[in-house]
Amino acid sequence: MKNKHYINGTWVSSATSETFSVLNPATEAIIAEIPAGNSVDINAAVNAARTAFDQGPWPRLSGAERAVYLRKMANIITRRLDELAKLEVLDNGKPYPEAKWDIEDTAATFEFYAGLAEELDNTSEQAIELAEPGFSSKAIKEPLGVAGAIIPWNFPMLMAAWKVAPALAAGCSIILKPSEITPLTAIALAEIADEAKLPAGVLNIVTGLGKDAGQALVEHADVDKLAFTGSIPTGSKIMATAAKDIKNISLELGGKSPFVIFEDSDIEKAVEWIMFGIFWNQGQVCSATSRVLVAEEIYPALLARLIEETKKITIGSGEQDGVLLGPLVNSDQYNKVLAAIERGVNDGATIATGGQRPPDLSVGYFLEPTILTGVDENSWVWNEEIFGPVVCIKPFQSENEAIQLANNSRFGLAAAVMSKDDERCERVARAFRAGIVWINCSQPTFVEAPWGGYKQSGIGRELGQWGLNNYLETKQITRFDSSDPWGWYIK
Ligand code: NAD
Repeated sequence: MKNKHYINGTWVSSATSETFSVLNPATEAIIAEIPAGNSVDINAAVNAARTAFDQGPWPRLSGAERAVYLRKMANIITRRLDELAKLEVLDNGKPYPEAKWDIEDTAATFEFYAGLAEELDNTSEQAIELAEPGFSSKAIKEPLGVAGAIIPWNFPMLMAAWKVAPALAAGCSIILKPSEITPLTAIALAEIADEAKLPAGVLNIVTGLGKDAGQALVEHADVDKLAFTGSIPTGSKIMATAAKDIKNISLELGGKSPFVIFEDSDIEKAVEWIMFGIFWNQGQVCSATSRVLVAEEIYPALLARLIEETKKITIGSGEQDGVLLGPLVNSDQYNKVLAAIERGVNDGATIATGGQRPPDLSVGYFLEPTILTGVDENSWVWNEEIFGPVVCIKPFQSENEAIQLANNSRFGLAAAVMSKDDERCERVARAFRAGIVWINCSQPTFVEAPWGGYKQSGIGRELGQWGLNNYLETKQITRFDSSDPWGWYIK
C-alpha cells in the first residue's frame, strides 16, 4: 500500500509529515499510517485536475473513448476482487461476503457508467423546437468541470465509485478525499487508475482529515462541483461554504428510514427483511430501515420471531466464515451507538434483545444486534440516526397512522412497505416522503435506479442517468438562420 497521495498521475509525498492511524476494528490494532494531507496537497491536486480539464484530452475525448478507460478500471477491480474485499474487511470490519459484494458493485458501477459514456455520444445533443421562425436551437450536455468528492467510511470503495465513475464518464476531472477512517481501498483505486493509464490529473486522490483536506477541497475556488456523502452536520457546513462562491453541490446525507409491515405479511419474510434492513453492514447504512412499524394484529408473533432470529446472528471478525455481523467501525462509533441505546432506555424504551458487547468478544468494537420496544415517538432514539445495529419497533393500528408515523421525520432518504395487497403497497409507496422506496424488501440497491433523499437527507440523486447528470452542464446553442435583417435599431 502506497503511503502517498495520487496527484497528476504520480505518487506524491504529503506536504507535511503528519499521518493518521487506520485501525482494524475487529482487533483494534493499527494496520496503516496514512498521510494527513493538508491544503497544500489539495491545492496541488486541484491544480492538476484543473489543468487536465482545461488543457488535457479527457473532456474532449468521445464518450466511447472514455468508456475504454472505465471498462479497464472495472476489469482491474474484478481481477483484484478478493484482495480488495479483504482490504475492505480489515479497514471497515464488514463481513467478507458483504465486502465482496461491495467490490463487485464497484466494478459494476464503472461498467455501467462506461455504457452511459458511450450513450452520451448519441444523446448529448438535443434539437429544440422554437415557436419563433428564423431561429434554430439545440441543447448540448458538457462535462461540468473539476469535481471534488468527499465520502464516508461505511461503503468505502463503493461510495468512491458512485462519484468517480459518473464524473469520469461525463468528462470531468476529480479529486477524491476518502474518509480518514477507511482510506485503504481509495488508495487502491488510485493504483487501479494508474494501471488503466488514465490521463494525468483526471483522478487525484488525497488522504486526510475532514477539517484539513476536506475543508480545503470545499473551499478551493477552482473546484466547480462538490459531491458529498456523509452526515448532516458536515453536509450543512459544506453547503454553507459552497454558497460563498455558488459551487454546484450534491449531498447524500443521513436517514432514519421507516419500514411499514401490514397484517397480511408473511411473518418469516418480514423478519428476514427487517434483519437485512438494519443488521447488514452492522446497521451502518444511511438507508437502514431503523424504525419498524408493524400492524398490531401480528406484532407479538412477529416480535417473538424477530428476537429469536436476531439472537442467532453469528458475530465476529469479518474475516471468519459464517460471520454475519462484524464490529462497528471504530471506538467513536461504538460509543455513540452504546450512548444511543442508553438514551433510549432512559427515555422509557425496553431492550428486547442485545444492547451489550458479546461476552466472548472482549477486543474489537463488537455489539450484539439490538431491538428496542416501547419507544416513544418523541424520543431521541426514535427520531435520530443511530448508525448501528439497533432497530426500534412499534405497533400501529391503521394505514393512516403508519404513514403519519413514517413521514414524521426530518429525514427522507428511504422507506419500505410490506403487504400482499399490491394496491396498498403502491398507495403507501406514493405516500412516503422519501427518495427511495422498497416494496416487500428493504435495501437492495441497483446502479440503474436513482439514489438520494427528500428533506434533510440530501440534495440531488446519484446512480443511473441521474448520477451522470450530476457531472454535466447544459448549454443552449441558438442560431439565427434567417437572411432577413433583425430590424430593431437599423430599419
Ligand atoms: P462525516 O460527515 O463525519 O464524514 C464524511 C466525510 O466528510 C469524511 O470524508 C470526512 O473526512 C469529511 N469531512 C468531515 N468534516 C469535514 C469538513 N468540515 N469539510 C469537508 N469534509 C469534511 O460522516 P461519516 O461519519 O463518515 O459517515 C456517516 C454518515 O454518512 C451518516 O450520517 C450516513 O447516513 C451518511 N451516509 C449517507 C449515504 C447516502 O447515500 N445518503 C451513504 C452513506 C453514508
